[in-house]
Amino acid sequence: MSQVILCRVLDYDSKVIESSLAAAFQKLDVASHFQSGENILIKPNLLSAVGPERAVTPHPTVFAALAEALSGLDLTLSYGDSPATSQPAAAARIAGLTDVADRLGIAHADFSTATTVRFSQGTHFKEAPIANGVLAADGLVNLCKLKTHALTGMTGAVKNLFGIIVGSRKAQLHVQFPDLQSFSNMLADLNREFMPRLIVMDAIVAMEGNGPMNGKPRACGWLLVGFDPVAIDTVGATIMGFTPGDLKLLKTAQAAGLGTADPRDIEVALLDAGTGATTGEGSLADFSGQLAIPGFVRPAVSRSLMTLATKLAGPLIKRHVMERPAIQPDVCTRCSQCVKACPVDPKALSQNQARAVPLYRYDRCIRCYCCQEICPAGAIVVEPAWPGRMFAGARARKARNTRE
Ligand code: SF4
Ligand code: SF4
Repeated sequence: MSQVILCRVLDYDSKVIESSLAAAFQKLDVASHFQSGENILIKPNLLSAVGPERAVTPHPTVFAALAEALSGLDLTLSYGDSPATSQPAAAARIAGLTDVADRLGIAHADFSTATTVRFSQGTHFKEAPIANGVLAADGLVNLCKLKTHALTGMTGAVKNLFGIIVGSRKAQLHVQFPDLQSFSNMLADLNREFMPRLIVMDAIVAMEGNGPMNGKPRACGWLLVGFDPVAIDTVGATIMGFTPGDLKLLKTAQAAGLGTADPRDIEVALLDAGTGATTGEGSLADFSGQLAIPGFVRPAVSRSLMTLATKLAGPLIKRHVMERPAIQPDVCTRCSQCVKACPVDPKALSQNQARAVPLYRYDRCIRCYCCQEICPAGAIVVEPAWPGRMFAGARARKARNTRE
């Protein structure tokens, strides 16, 4: 059984978050997983340089409470991430983490330079340029945010590790691992090599709809703590209303031995934020109905359809069967960032003339959704293609409206 603590935290009140983490640390005996004097890196999900109100990044109040709790274990702390589009220092500053780190004396780790590491246990992914700030640490603490994700359905603990790979290599990995199954295999190998000591998930305000960058903040009221990244994500997926078994990333991570995605094998404890008292305990399967947020807007994509289309292969089938990114011309600011971000060669996005709305070549598109993730205007949505469009049109329209 894997244990996940769910602290009931309704807003970003620092005192409540501090007491919740203290109770969770005690219940999980977190101290026994660290040794006095170790150098520990906190790895927040800093996807881009945006403020905490957007729910793209973990809230600075959670970062502060976690850092203070870890400092109490006599650890030397650093923090950092390699964002998809921004400079690491800028992303940390705008997300509100730099102020906290400066106040607490936490060093910003080096996420600008990297060393290529050969993976001792990689079955699909053999080596990658890992941030030197990660390599300098004795261990990682994974501070993730619960969000929807166009490619993987949801992003939380397992996907957060992608940020330890520095810079543009991340985009190239989408070409090297072009479908959801191979991308999940890659993430599983990465997590196995850099397994975090502790995971804290900010699901106090999560993201629904057009995530992981341009969705809507959605209050969920949970702060999750545990050691098993797959179990943490499985609880997060349950909060979003997914059936965890439908998410290929979680199934792959479980098959790779990283943890469990079976709700019957996850022991959850619900803690009251104020008192730290346990208000419920049992398997996740017992609490699934209670945890799922009614009407949570999940990505308007069918994972099974994507996998089937990928297996059937052929650009023609992909073009006509699979869901696909689509640009809303009335929202697009013609900034060209999506064209620059497209990792395939030749590109699947082009502009016929300067300042025109980019056009897709779906037969080239591998559906990595780097363009959707990077778009600063939230103009790119996931559009189900035929025949999915017939069945999922309403959900797609809902996702499309997330910035309205
Ligand atoms: S990144 Fe977004 S706003 Fe910029 S050109 Fe592409 S679709 Fe338009
Ligand atoms: S067009 Fe978008 S989804 Fe398609 S390959 Fe390029 S970045 Fe990926």
